[in-house]
Amino acid sequence: MSAKILDGKWVREQILSELRPRIAKMTSSHRPPGLAVILVGHDPASEIYVRGKIKTCGELGIYSEKITPPETISTEELLGIIEGLNQRNEIDGILVQVPLPKQIDSRRVLLSVKPDKDVDGFHPVNVGSLVANIPAPRACTPAGIMEMLRRYEIPIAGKKAVVVGRSDIVGKPMALLLLHQSATVTICHSKTVDLAGECRRADILVAAIGKPALVTREFIQPGAVVIDVGQNRGADGKGLVGDVEAAAAHELASAYTPVPGGVGPLTIAMLMANTVQAAEQHLCCG
Ligand code: NAP
Repeated sequence: MSAKILDGKWVREQILSELRPRIAKMTSSHRPPGLAVILVGHDPASEIYVRGKIKTCGELGIYSEKITPPETISTEELLGIIEGLNQRNEIDGILVQVPLPKQIDSRRVLLSVKPDKDVDGFHPVNVGSLVANIPAPRACTPAGIMEMLRRYEIPIAGKKAVVVGRSDIVGKPMALLLLHQSATVTICHSKTVDLAGECRRADILVAAIGKPALVTREFIQPGAVVIDVGQNRGADGKGLVGDVEAAAAHELASAYTPVPGGVGPLTIAMLMANTVQAAEQHLCCG
């Protein structure tokens, strides 16, 4: 068997092209959607991510603002910036790029973003809505994976899904989104006994671990759908390597997301979708 490749760029283009008319409508009748991105300091990876987000806003006609406080900013000062953005009507979404410097109280920062502007879906109010299956901004990477499964018409209801990783950003929201689509979900983590055995039961296997090629052929049930969220530096310090051994996924899976080009392109697309959704909400309901 040779796995079907699930193409993240194709899904991203579909998502973005569906947003364009919604943005055009808002812009002609009211104003464009607005996203503020706060990038503290000069973390090189964060700078690349933020550049990608601002660039995509520009391509879509979303108004964007990049705010770049110095590495030495205090929690109080950062909270002041966020409060200012919370008050501004033309800003629909606020994204605080993580990681934040050590002196910053990340929890207070997370809580300070108004939930209706939390386009990352990280605020506890939005996490609660996710648990209760109430519409609200969802974490972008797992939401993008759900879009991918939907657009490739991969059945979820009744399937055994195994999510490896329990982070607030990927693993936990991923498991809940699959559960809401009626998968039977197992969440694995670093203390899981017989990880390979757990994974081998999966019809849908999501690896969100951050360990290059940890998922080998012993982890994959023949015919499984394998979603590789991992974005790890290659052994030479260059390039991107997934959490799944690519050759094993190719050989055993029925479908899988390559790294790069699978899950990676979906996150910014869903950030744009969350921003447009927030703007529509703000313009219709104040
Ligand atoms: P994270 O916060 O470090 O969480 C990693 C999870 O993997 C933890 O729950 C950890 O378990 C588990 N884990 C670590 N080693 C393990 C092992 N040997 N066996 C089983 N489980 C293990 O990472 P994250 O933010 O969720 O990101 C995971 C990966 O996805 C990273 O490679 C990241 O770069 C990538 N990512 C990609 C995108 C994208 O494509 N757009 C977005 C976000 C993240 P414990 O909880 O027990 O420690």
